[in-house]
Amino acid sequence: MEIRGHYLDNQPVAGSGSRRGALFNPATGEQHGTVALADAADVTRAVDAAAAALPAWSALTPLSRARVLFRFRELMLAHLNELAGLVTLEHGKVFADAKAEVQRGLEVVEFACGIPQLLKGDHSLNVGSGIDSYTLHQPVGVCVGISPFNFPAMVPLWMFPIALACGNTFVMKPSELDPSASLLMADLLAQAGAPPGVFNVLNGDRTTVEALIADTRVQAVSFVGSTPVAESVYRLAAQRGIRAQALGGAKNHLLVMPDADITQVTTALLGAAYGSAGERCMAISVAVCVGDAKADALIHALQTAIATMNVGPGLQQQPEPHMGPLISKLHAAKVRGYIDTGVQEGATLVCDGRGFVCKGHEHGYFVGPTLFDRVMPTMRIYREEIFGPVLCVVRVQTYEEALALINAHEYGNGTAIFTRDGLAARRFCEAVQAGMVGVNVPIPVPMAFHSFGGWKRSLFGPLHMHGPEGVRFFTRLKTVTARWHDTGQGNAGFVMPTLK
Ligand code: NAD
Repeated sequence: MEIRGHYLDNQPVAGSGSRRGALFNPATGEQHGTVALADAADVTRAVDAAAAALPAWSALTPLSRARVLFRFRELMLAHLNELAGLVTLEHGKVFADAKAEVQRGLEVVEFACGIPQLLKGDHSLNVGSGIDSYTLHQPVGVCVGISPFNFPAMVPLWMFPIALACGNTFVMKPSELDPSASLLMADLLAQAGAPPGVFNVLNGDRTTVEALIADTRVQAVSFVGSTPVAESVYRLAAQRGIRAQALGGAKNHLLVMPDADITQVTTALLGAAYGSAGERCMAISVAVCVGDAKADALIHALQTAIATMNVGPGLQQQPEPHMGPLISKLHAAKVRGYIDTGVQEGATLVCDGRGFVCKGHEHGYFVGPTLFDRVMPTMRIYREEIFGPVLCVVRVQTYEEALALINAHEYGNGTAIFTRDGLAARRFCEAVQAGMVGVNVPIPVPMAFHSFGGWKRSLFGPLHMHGPEGVRFFTRLKTVTARWHDTGQGNAGFVMPTLK
């Protein structure tokens, strides 16, 4: 059985630790390999590699670093199908969705290729007589990335291309459930000309993450995953006084106004709730419907549409499924457990995915699309992140009630409003407490040249991922104040200098 090791100093490395994780194909339930889980010695070796590469890499011109990323982009495109195939094999999402994930990640590489423009500082002439002031955006040092299972290619790509373009070196710790995409990207980056040690992949789990953050040479931690772990990672980084951006879980609401087009909303909800089997941090898991008439119409339309959905293995071609299995047996059981809870709590179960069996893939981790109506805000299925193909409809009577509901939730990642009323949409965008808002767009994931991040317990730390905030995260600001005398030294100054 194949063993996935690490990738350090541009070489595949088995690692010295003996701990292993099992790798499964979620569509069949079969184990296809194991992954090494790094111990303390492996962590030291990875950080050694990144620290040794730092002086030369950070001293390169920004354009030279960007050129490596240009070549990396070409290689990624050439290996797009291979990468997407690995994502589908280990994660389970359908192949077209896996390709789209790689494509969205590639857009961050393209953004990072323009880094010389983004690293320019400010300059003020004559802040005092004969004195100029200017800013430098310098690399932070050795950076660490920790990613979740649900986007094994895209989330690492949110982090390392920008970090490298800014002159940092990097240790990537992907999810131990689907590590292969990161290993392939490390190999492509080496082929693109990244010197040894600039980008390293270290596989592992909690032990590995904690040892990485504890290494005093690590200067920044970029994390994406569940909220309890995001909070813990943020605290560990804060205890060491280093910067961290830790993106957490979500419960994204889509507000359906009484004037919204039901066909449009149904189509949007189908993809946003059930795409990737609901395992997206921007998935819509709650539809808040204003007015009972609207809710009745929506439930009817959703029920009809769900009946036409095709669920199957991600690599199936004819017909290509709309959604695949969940990541693991454990997670599928957890999602089924949430459906049981919803029934016990008194929500109306309109479509039940618990009994879904995929013909020919009876051991796959499938749960069918599930729809609950009349969900109450006190229920666990409303409050907690399920991370599966379960859509909850909450009925309210007014826009104000809907807004208050969304704003009271502990998470604030993404949200959307569907309406024909421009003023209502404008008010919503201003008042809603979430980091990413869609207007008649169900999954408003910002493009690479904007930044991605939530509010409240969906993000710990001030800076979002990629885009301008990503560049700020991966650079340290320095401000220089310079005077070049053409006369004598003048008198000593004992008073705070002011602008004259
Ligand atoms: P997870 O928190 O279990 O794991 C994320 C990463 O942290 C993995 O690499 C894992 O090995 C590591 N890890 C796990 N437990 C740890 C611990 N106690 N200490 C240190 N590291 C630990 O998340 P997951 O199940 O892989 O991913 C799903 C979660 O990620 C969902 O909650 C989802 O909403 C969230 N997510 C958020 C975003 C976002 O942008 N906000 C994007 C994608 C996924």
